[in-house]
Amino acid sequence: MSEAAAGNGAAPGGLEAVIGLEIHVQLATATKMFCSCALSFGEPPNTHTCPVCLGLPGSLPVANARAVHFGLMIGLALGSELAPRSIFHRKNYFYPDLPKGYQISQYDEPLCLGGALGEVRIHRVHLEEDAAKLIHVGASGRIHGSDASLVDFNRGGTPLAEIVTEPDLRTPEQAGEWLRLLRTTLRALGVSDVNMEEGSLRCDANISLRPAGSGQLGVKTELKNMNSFRFIERGIKAEIARQAKVIETGGTVVQETLHFDPDSGAITSLRSKEEAHDYRYFPEPDLLPVTIEPAMLEQARAAMPELPAQRAQRLTAELGLSEDSARALAFRGELAPYFEAALAAGADPAPEPQALANWVTVELLPRLQDGEDPGGSRVAPAALAELVGLVGAKRVSVGAARQVLDRLVSDGGDAGAIVEQEGLGAIGGGEELEAVVAAAIAANADAAERVRQGNAKAIGPIVGQVMRETKGRADGTEVASLINAQLGV
Ligand code: ADP
Ligand code: MG
Ligand code: ZN
Repeated sequence: MSEAAAGNGAAPGGLEAVIGLEIHVQLATATKMFCSCALSFGEPPNTHTCPVCLGLPGSLPVANARAVHFGLMIGLALGSELAPRSIFHRKNYFYPDLPKGYQISQYDEPLCLGGALGEVRIHRVHLEEDAAKLIHVGASGRIHGSDASLVDFNRGGTPLAEIVTEPDLRTPEQAGEWLRLLRTTLRALGVSDVNMEEGSLRCDANISLRPAGSGQLGVKTELKNMNSFRFIERGIKAEIARQAKVIETGGTVVQETLHFDPDSGAITSLRSKEEAHDYRYFPEPDLLPVTIEPAMLEQARAAMPELPAQRAQRLTAELGLSEDSARALAFRGELAPYFEAALAAGADPAPEPQALANWVTVELLPRLQDGEDPGGSRVAPAALAELVGLVGAKRVSVGAARQVLDRLVSDGGDAGAIVEQEGLGAIGGGEELEAVVAAAIAANADAAERVRQGNAKAIGPIVGQVMRETKGRADGTEVASLINAQLGV
């Protein structure tokens, strides 16, 4: 089945999708998980390495206290149970990006257990180290005359928190939305850059189908390492469609690990599913158990910021925003800080909070490039606040304000100044508008006659002409009532 045929992502034919996510978050510590190498992004390859993260014999790891601190903050944000004692294991497998031949991870005694974020339960959160980065040099970039894979060990040993959800998600869109909420939460915590394109936030999606309403879980597949929100939703959609087709044609879904290619939309098998025993887990003998002293817990608690869910509640309680608006602002990207900065900008006339929220989510956001935060756009919070204030005071019509916003998005600047320069100030009540209305009635005599005879819909062309003449600066409702008044209806 093609991607397009998968429609909106809901599973077809009485089937229901079940989705669980495994999210890897690179922690924004100064140094790596088990050595004192600085973290790096974009530096020349293999300049941030030492015997520990290169896996040289005789070197000894030491756990990074800051990574544990960040792990505790994540656990607190998710309402997890924080283990007073957790341990590291060796997860053994062979791959060129893993110089030791094993990854140090947590296995059956992780740092955080359980919890929830929104409607999705958390299974666990554990700490581990990232692998190095493989760079495959294709035919166009031959090294020493042959195709090659290069290894950059700078990333090797970067601290990771792995967050594992319960299989509580049902649609690709819900998975994407939830992941955005998680990203906003992690960003508020300040524990990671949470940048999917740069790989500091990576997501594996586990997907199965079952008859809608069934209490049992179907066989799952795992889509590995998706690195953008759009790809995740598309990838899950495509995999649901693939599994549905397998089931509908009488086949059975086999448990395997898959790759989604965002360019072609194709799904290919990477390997059949590995089991825990394949990894020959055993406790890491070179590391002490992680014991959480009361002081560490205190420190983590003291460092907790306001979280998106709390922020949404506050926006509703303090400003009277609708719950949908409050969630739209607080759960996604940097919208809430932008909104609050606009509100605090002291615009005169001051914007009404709900109106400002609507302008941020309904007008500004769709005008920005996919995924861009308004904070990084040319529209200064104060400029939007002023514009919305002017609309509220009926000094600029909604239509004209949209034109001003287009200008702010492309060039930035000051809302009031653009209104002046472009002559976009509202035409209200006065003689000027009365005259434009009279002219429009005269020019549309047929329509005017029909309105007089009680055909209210016939007013359209007359309103249209007034709007053209005033370049959208008049208020539509006011124009309609002026026309009706002049026509005596
Ligand atoms: P594994 O041992 O294969 O890693 P886990 O039980 O640890 O599997 O679960 C890994 C992830 O897969 C979790 O996010 C979990 O919610 C999800 N998951 C487990 N079973 C299913 C299923 N049948 N369908 C969809 N997701 C599932
Ligand atoms: Mg797994
Ligand atoms: Zn190192």
